[in-house]
Amino acid sequence: KYGDRINTGSLKKGQKVTKDKANRATVEQVLDPRTMRFLAKIINKGIISRINGCISTGKEANVYHGDHEDKSINDKEYAVKIYKTSILVFKDRERYVDGEFRFRNTKNQSNPRKMVKVWAEKEFRNLKRLYMGGIPCPEPVELRSHVLVMEYLTKGEAQPSPKLRDHAFKDTDDIVKFYYEMLFHMRRMFRECRLVHADLSEYNSIVHNDKLYIIDVSQSVEPEHPMALDFLRMDIKNVNDFFSRKKINVFPERLLFQYITE
Ligand code: ADP
Ligand code: MN
Repeated sequence: KYGDRINTGSLKKGQKVTKDKANRATVEQVLDPRTMRFLAKIINKGIISRINGCISTGKEANVYHGDHEDKSINDKEYAVKIYKTSILVFKDRERYVDGEFRFRNTKNQSNPRKMVKVWAEKEFRNLKRLYMGGIPCPEPVELRSHVLVMEYLTKGEAQPSPKLRDHAFKDTDDIVKFYYEMLFHMRRMFRECRLVHADLSEYNSIVHNDKLYIIDVSQSVEPEHPMALDFLRMDIKNVNDFFSRKKINVFPERLLFQYITE
């Protein structure tokens, strides 16, 4: 189903992942030894025992499917998001972290390894805020450096639930329903969670159990961020553009900005 299986080795409960086991997976040329060490920590906690394959390969991160072979230990499925540690991709993300009170630490910004760690931490913390704030999103489970484990949104048989982009709308009412859900979430995110998504679109939302879920919040910022309201206007535009293409009437952007912020 996922193409290549990354063999992290079968582990009994309590059994430690040895360097040897970690290296064997590395030989398969998928994850670097450092990433494997963090993955081993997650495996030793009994959350998952293996990575089954890739759900998505992105510019900044790859997302893998993980679960436990022994369903008596854990029968849940997880999305494991592993940030890439190369320098280039993080260059254009600096503007999100600059002016971010929570992560103001200039030492980090020249070191790509520390940068990805900051990004993963940002995503984990923002995801927690959403989850606690009652926004439908994957439950954040575990963070080890640049490796983030969250609930896997699945439509069954280990298949991921579709992005909003790929959702087959039943009819006009269905389109309107998801438009309104998106607007509610944006408002609640701003007012209750005090976050602007800053990369919201039909690609960063998932239709799961007939509800709209929000994902990919590593770049989200607080309203105090100097660019926050510009990001919000961008989010509104992306959302309106998508739903306009679905041939429904959308609210004027100015009105939505007001609805979300006041
Ligand atoms: P990127 O930074 O690469 O855009 P995302 O967090 O948006 O990373 O994840 C990439 C893709 O992986 C998503 O568009 C979605 O299809 C899938 N995905 C991410 N998280 C989950 C999850 N928790 N459950 C199911 N699928 C997911
Ligand atoms: Mn994304």
